[in-house]
Amino acid sequence: MEEKPVKMCSRCNEKPTISPTSPFCASCMNKVRWEKAGSKDMKVSKDRPKKTQPRPDLEVIVSFKRYPEVLAQIRALSEEEMRPLDVEIIFILKCHLKVERGSDAVV
Ligand SMILES: [Zn+2]
Repeated sequence: MEEKPVKMCSRCNEKPTISPTSPFCASCMNKVRWEKAGSKDMKVSKDRPKKTQPRPDLEVIVSFKRYPEVLAQIRALSEEEMRPLDVEIIFILKCHLKVERGSDAVV
């Protein structure tokens, strides 16, 4: 009576199943669940192409009505550097943020 009939996991074949009705052990059960969830997510992202739906939280509309001279300066720079205006703005912001971070590091 020492040996009970133990069903082994049909996936890894190393551990006993969590219940007589389940084909998998506990860890494989989790893996199977994750795989199912993963494949579901992939299908959803396939159905929705990313490029056609811009994320509104990544776009800012900036008005230079009150600061026309700032826009004129950026436009002059963008023409000088041969960059599109929006790229020039990002470039300036990046430079500015880098400098700020750099000065923080010194202090
Ligand atoms: Zn297993």
